[in-house]
Amino acid sequence: MSDEGVTKVPNTAIAVIGDGCAGLSFAAKAASLPEHTIHLFSPQSNSSKHDHVWGYWKMDWMKFVAPLAFKTWYKWSIITANTEVEMQACHHPYQAVKRHNWLAHCRNNAKQNGVKFSNDMLSIDDFPNEQVFDSRPPKWRANMMVQHFIGWEVRAEAGSFNDDCAILMDFRCDQSRGVHFIYCLPFSDREALVESTLISPNIEQDEFYEGAISTWLSDCAGVKFFEVLRCEKGAIPLGLMQRHDPDLQGVGSNCGAIRPSSGYAFSFIQKQIATALNQVKNGNKLSFSSPHKKIDLFMDRVFLSVLRNQPHYAPTLFTRMATRLTGDEFAQFLSGEANIILRLKVIMAMPPWPFIRALLRLETVA
Ligand SMILES: Cc1cc2nc3c(=O)[nH]c(=O)nc-3n(C[C@H](O)[C@H](O)[C@H](O)COP(=O)(O)OP(=O)(O)OC[C@H]3O[C@@H](n4cnc5c(N)ncnc54)[C@H](O)[C@@H]3O)c2cc1C
Repeated sequence: MSDEGVTKVPNTAIAVIGDGCAGLSFAAKAASLPEHTIHLFSPQSNSSKHDHVWGYWKMDWMKFVAPLAFKTWYKWSIITANTEVEMQACHHPYQAVKRHNWLAHCRNNAKQNGVKFSNDMLSIDDFPNEQVFDSRPPKWRANMMVQHFIGWEVRAEAGSFNDDCAILMDFRCDQSRGVHFIYCLPFSDREALVESTLISPNIEQDEFYEGAISTWLSDCAGVKFFEVLRCEKGAIPLGLMQRHDPDLQGVGSNCGAIRPSSGYAFSFIQKQIATALNQVKNGNKLSFSSPHKKIDLFMDRVFLSVLRNQPHYAPTLFTRMATRLTGDEFAQFLSGEANIILRLKVIMAMPPWPFIRALLRLETVA
């Protein structure tokens, strides 16, 4: 027993596969695992060279990320053809951090705390005495729902964007291919990330997203002339998936970190790691588990079924949620922090029939 009466784990060797968000975010916490040695493997140099932005709501477990956030919004909006709902938060603003900055910060922390890095090829036999955690991407299922997008970081003339308010969803775009919205993070009155995002099983040609961004900029934001500074592109699978290698324990999106209804994962990866470290502090062996509550996963399953089979309801659903919840409640719900009252509030905000129909056909949900 230690001085505090907590059982100490004997020195444990940990191997982590992959140096993406989860691998490096975990390695950066090496100082919290004094009885462990950590070895991080990135056997292929297939980490994305491209930078991108991670958006998340500020929560307790994200406080140590906040100093790296380059922009914070206390207001955000959801826009449809007929309505614009602006939400305001007091405690849980929306923040943005650059992937490269976060990963470099984590890598530095990890190195300072003795984490060993290796680029060698490896097989499971290379870790006979280590506890292995695999952060390689999970296996997609055929025909699953996917959040797919292309984003342009653009520069336009001064006064083009209102950087007080992030636009989380603007549905004034082509709705014929699934749930489609524009996500706009204004970094200043001249620069913004503008993303065309689709939720559907089918990835479209780049021209589809690019056309949607240009059209939105000119027709909705009134921005005719702009320069594209950077592009980002992604496809995030929504729904439960098998681990990359069923024989290895997972971490990050390979351990259920992606929220099925929204594609958000960055904040959930930090939550998953914080929970695992707390358990070790309480004398348990290191292990990672899904950061989502079972009730949230069930609600997400029904919600995804509505988006898949009745996508035309999406603007109504998100607008109703934004109208009935405060900004802080909205942030808590989407960050997996809803209590029973907040969950009921969300349920009561929804039109019943699309959800009753979805419940009846749940077996076809992605
Ligand atoms: C462009 C983009 C924007 C996103 N924006 C947001 C956002 O705003 N907010 C949010 O919450 N989430 C966002 N996400 C989703 C999520 O946060 C990221 O996907 C996150 O990187 C997941 O972390 P991870 O560690 O699980 O996977 P990754 O960061 O992808 O790391 C996987 C690791 O596995 C390695 N690897 C892959 N294949 C192999 C292989 N075959 N062999 C060996 N190693 C391999 C990779 O090199 C990498 O090191 C975004 C995703 C993308 C792609």
